[in-house]
Amino acid sequence: MKRIAILGSTGSIGTQALDVIRANPDSFELEVLTAHSNADLLVQQALAFKPNAVVIAREDLYEQVRDALQQEDIKVYAGANALDAVVEMGTVDMVLTAMVGYAGLQPTIRAIKAGKQIALANKETLVVAGQLITGLAKEYGVNIYPVDSEHSAIFQCLAGEFHNPIEKVILTASGGPFRGRSTAELAQVTKAQALKHPNWDMGAKITIDSASLMNKGLEVIEAKWLFGLRNEQIEVVVHPQSIIHSLVQFEDGSIKAQLGLPDMKLPIQYALGYPQRLKSDFPRFSFMDYPQLTFEQPDLKTFRNLQIAFDAMEKGGNMPCILNAANEVAVSAFLHDEVGFLQMSDIIESCMAKVAYIANPSYEDYIETDRETRVRAAEFISPAAKTSDR
Ligand code: NDP
Ligand code: MG
Repeated sequence: MKRIAILGSTGSIGTQALDVIRANPDSFELEVLTAHSNADLLVQQALAFKPNAVVIAREDLYEQVRDALQQEDIKVYAGANALDAVVEMGTVDMVLTAMVGYAGLQPTIRAIKAGKQIALANKETLVVAGQLITGLAKEYGVNIYPVDSEHSAIFQCLAGEFHNPIEKVILTASGGPFRGRSTAELAQVTKAQALKHPNWDMGAKITIDSASLMNKGLEVIEAKWLFGLRNEQIEVVVHPQSIIHSLVQFEDGSIKAQLGLPDMKLPIQYALGYPQRLKSDFPRFSFMDYPQLTFEQPDLKTFRNLQIAFDAMEKGGNMPCILNAANEVAVSAFLHDEVGFLQMSDIIESCMAKVAYIANPSYEDYIETDRETRVRAAEFISPAAKTSDR
């Protein structure tokens, strides 16, 4: 029986993780649920799963959640600091980091320091501070199990191969809703179009990242840290059907791939259940439904964000942290109709040029880099927009 804390239980990954836990009552017990502002769904989940504790990050919603759960034996906390505390609870074995963005960094560090196993969906944590996180995981004897489908695929390909060096990994990318578009066409795309992903149903931030290929860029950096790779060992290939989730090439030239229908429940369940493969009733893949699996080069000139992410990884230090913070501000501005699709890349590039570079950042340096980058990025968003209601 694994006792699980879910950070971000009301999101796309969080709700699918709850489906996995509900379907496997002999394997998992739910200890902690957390949300940012969706108090209604958090309460509903708490009544259904009866966890030990819930956290609502927005403090103004505390009373609403507490009152709704007053008949229950469930502890209710509020605020970002409470997230740090619940991951340390003695009754928690594993923390699923399913919250979005930089806010995942601090609770992940606290969970690792408390010796909790990590099922990592929150890729931004590894992008911002991969060296720090993987170093801490080693120091505290904690395993980080990938939830991201590409990294889960690589992890599954590595089963039984841990003593065999990797020659390279190939991350597959769907190409998103704008695959094949020109720069001129991208200049015109709308938020509604960008939010329609062809294969995956995900939270808003990662859906925009998928449309701009920044998601693949973040995943390249995530792969570097998860699997201890050199930059030149990571390749990206566009595979629009999203059936092959990624591949590993070994030193004898053999390539292993992991396949399946695009459904996040499988990688979530593999991470939570590892080393066991739990029985599932997820829909099965058939080659007859997919007579053609196709592959193409990513267009790094049109989808600049992927090239920018490769550049940030190459520069190292706090550059991926700058990349991530600028991207979070840019995506939020795009979602609020304050900037166009292509301006997101402009914002990120100018932040990478202007924010002070630090080759060997400390934890405090990451915090300061994130803060400074957000200020810089906001300066690029039009002053009229800045005063609008956000
Ligand atoms: P969603 O936006 O759907 O959900 C985010 C969750 O985090 C919600 O529960 C939200 O609460 C909570 N949250 C947001 N901001 C904060 C904050 N500042 N403090 C505390 N909690 C917060 O995102 P996804 O589920 O799509 O993605 C989550 C993570 O998983 C991301 O890092 C993403 O890159 C990664 N991922 C997602 C995949 C997917 O298929 N969705 C695939 C691979 C990786 P509330 O609902 O109250 O706002
Ligand atoms: Mg992915």
